[in-house]
Amino acid sequence: MFTHLDRLAAAHPDGIPSSLINSFIYAGQPQRLIVQPGIWKPKHLSAALSIRTTFARSPADRPYQDEVGADGLMRYKYRGTDPNHADNRALRSALQQGAPLVYFVGVAKSVYQAIYPVFLLTEEAAEHQFVVGIDEQQALLPALRGPEPAAARKYAQRLLKLRLHQPIFRARVLRAYGSSCAMCGLHLPQLVEAAHILSDSHPRGEPVVPNGLALCKIHHAAFDANILGVRPDLIIEVRPDILSQTGGPMFKYGLQETHGTRLQVPHQVSARPDPARLEERYLEFRRQPSVTTAVARWGPAGSR
Ligand SMILES: [Zn+2]
Repeated sequence: MFTHLDRLAAAHPDGIPSSLINSFIYAGQPQRLIVQPGIWKPKHLSAALSIRTTFARSPADRPYQDEVGADGLMRYKYRGTDPNHADNRALRSALQQGAPLVYFVGVAKSVYQAIYPVFLLTEEAAEHQFVVGIDEQQALLPALRGPEPAAARKYAQRLLKLRLHQPIFRARVLRAYGSSCAMCGLHLPQLVEAAHILSDSHPRGEPVVPNGLALCKIHHAAFDANILGVRPDLIIEVRPDILSQTGGPMFKYGLQETHGTRLQVPHQVSARPDPARLEERYLEFRRQPSVTTAVARWGPAGSR
């Protein structure tokens, strides 16, 4: 199952359609991996195989429906409130067996990002939920909670960001931008990434589509390094000292000639970059010494 998902994930960085997820063949038999409503235990298995969270329509919504506890660990709710419902018993079996599961997170209608392996760490019956470890290491965390709970929490939050939030952010941003670079239009999904407008260490740097831009690897790195900036009106500016240098084709066409061009943004208004976040990020670009000096002399792009 993991090999099947590895192959699909590589071909579909903007999320895997459920029809493909369910095209799995095991021992000569078609084997579904994802079903309505959320928890899936095939008849011949003794424990649940997958859990699922559906897609939230607005790209501004948090892209994950999980609840994160004060310990930084993810929770997955029971089906209903009956602890003995067959689906909840299937999850309990997975917990008792230490069996790995796949967590499917909706990134569009019937399209999922697959997070695996995940493990159930414990059950919180009073809250009708299971605690989910997002990778093998997280299964070790309970032992760490005693002596150093703050460190364990920090580690758990970092893992959640890395293993859950980043892949979902990437899939949703790529999907919103049709897997093309917003600066140059490059349409090679393997070379297109999701950039944060405000970095994830910023208080408003959440992994949501309006804080994202689909950029090719070169433009992502150039944007992160403030070699180029994006004005709130979506016009791209290149750092003046870069504009005045000479270089090869990537330098000329890839960087210098993006100066003064307009960012290509999604048709769906709610998926477009948030102007307030863009402005804050653009001010950071403008604060660089090489930009302030040159702009005082030349004025910004478009005014020349
Ligand atoms: Zn590009």
